[in-house]
Amino acid sequence: MKINANEISALIKEQIKNYHAKIDSSDVGTVVTVGDGIALIYGLDQAMLGELLLFPNDIYGLVMNLEEDHVGAVLLGDDKLVKEGDVVKRTKQVMEVPVGDQMLGRVVNALGQPIDGLGEIKTDKFRPIERIAPGVITRKSVDTPLETGITAIDAMTPIGRGQRELIIGDRQTGKTAIAIDAIINQKGKDVLCIYVAIGQKNSTVAQIVDKLKTYGAMDYTLVMAATASEPAPMLYVAPYAGCAIAEEWMEQGKDVLIIYDDLSKHAVAYRALSLLLKRSPGREAYPGDVFYLHSRLLERACKLSDEFGGGSITALPIVETQSGDISAYIPTNVISITDGQIFLTTDSFNAGQRPAIDSGLSVSRVGGAAQFKATKQVARSLKIDLASFLEMKSFSQFGSDLDKSTLAILKHGEVLLRVLRQEQYKVRSLSKQVFELYLAKSKLLDELPIENVRDTLEEVHQYVLNNHPEILKDIDDKKEISEDNEKALRKAIEDFFAIKEK
Ligand code: ATP
Ligand code: MG
Repeated sequence: MKINANEISALIKEQIKNYHAKIDSSDVGTVVTVGDGIALIYGLDQAMLGELLLFPNDIYGLVMNLEEDHVGAVLLGDDKLVKEGDVVKRTKQVMEVPVGDQMLGRVVNALGQPIDGLGEIKTDKFRPIERIAPGVITRKSVDTPLETGITAIDAMTPIGRGQRELIIGDRQTGKTAIAIDAIINQKGKDVLCIYVAIGQKNSTVAQIVDKLKTYGAMDYTLVMAATASEPAPMLYVAPYAGCAIAEEWMEQGKDVLIIYDDLSKHAVAYRALSLLLKRSPGREAYPGDVFYLHSRLLERACKLSDEFGGGSITALPIVETQSGDISAYIPTNVISITDGQIFLTTDSFNAGQRPAIDSGLSVSRVGGAAQFKATKQVARSLKIDLASFLEMKSFSQFGSDLDKSTLAILKHGEVLLRVLRQEQYKVRSLSKQVFELYLAKSKLLDELPIENVRDTLEEVHQYVLNNHPEILKDIDDKKEISEDNEKALRKAIEDFFAIKEK
């Protein structure tokens, strides 16, 4: 059979004339380039910022950039399984994580999937990882203390439930230790805890989980781990995912403590993503919106008013500094977002003053309102006493013969520092903290050689506990030192020293 050219062109013309269907590029796209956990996609005209995309091999991506001719997405999975030319579909959903009480006692990744080998987590509820923070009307100011069990913090920089307090310091200064102690101390206090590990070693996270188990803290704790070996997008979403889980509990009227360890690594992960997405770098090569990265996270911590259930999220973000420089970009940002900071110094840490809290640079702007009366009674002048001691100490280095009163102030300061020394995992009850500070205030310890101060503190405490347990119980119950109780306490302490003299 012979077909002539005219017929063919007529046929083609006919086909083109009848071609009405348009290729739909609004819901599907094709991968143009992929690498480093980032995919650039052609198509997806209708995609929205923050929307989840489905790649082949069940890998999800998160829309981060909407450009004129392409969409930039971060991959929440192995980028080696995605190739150029792969088809990408919209899911028309934002990213969600499972929430609820079933999460307690578990270790999950940034997507809320279990990684502890204890089997599936059966939850029926999910929440979007991003949410607008509760407004002013729904909030109320902090009024209940969040006891960390660390004397230096509860006495000098008290934290209230619903507050955001930054823990900041160089590497290896005991930042994580404070956070873990705070979790351990929530036992029996009706506070649920979430520990979000961002960019840490797998082994470190495993050790932390182990310690939490040892101290019986896993029963009320969820650990979310986005470790250093995982792709940057997982590190980026982890804190928001952890916060979503906390919000579910808060809305049920519960109190939640959430730790972000640490936000400097979070910022670094976000910087990597932003540079790969070709967003323009600003100061220290961070993108322009790096402040918003942390502000929208930390604003979600709050105390809800009673009409909204009265729940709270207390956030303890951790930030690592380089050689004590708290005026670098990320530290200043996070300091300005939080309600105060606990500043740890390498010098104190190495000198054995642990926790290595710098009493001068550490503040808590709102927690004072929530501090127990008992602590207020004994700690009112603590910060000032320490400050004048430190000033006198640096001054007295130049003088040789010091007068008696100067020596007394110096000795008392040293004693106070000993009282604030506290080993890791040895959290103190309210009555113990108050008792020790009361004893220090009485100046009875100033007579002792400095090395004996800590041991004596333990000894007197044990003596009172054995002979007059009601005194300490009264402090724990009433959260204050009543007049009669103070008399009894003074008498008990005097008895102890009288017996010891003999
Ligand atoms: P990194 O920067 O590596 O995260 P970090 O600032 O979180 O470190 P930690 O890991 O908490 O510091 O503590 C460093 C070391 O100091 C640990 O070995 C820990 O056991 C020890 N340490 C921390 N706090 C105390 C303390 N109060 N008493 C005794 N040892 C402590
Ligand atoms: Mg740490």
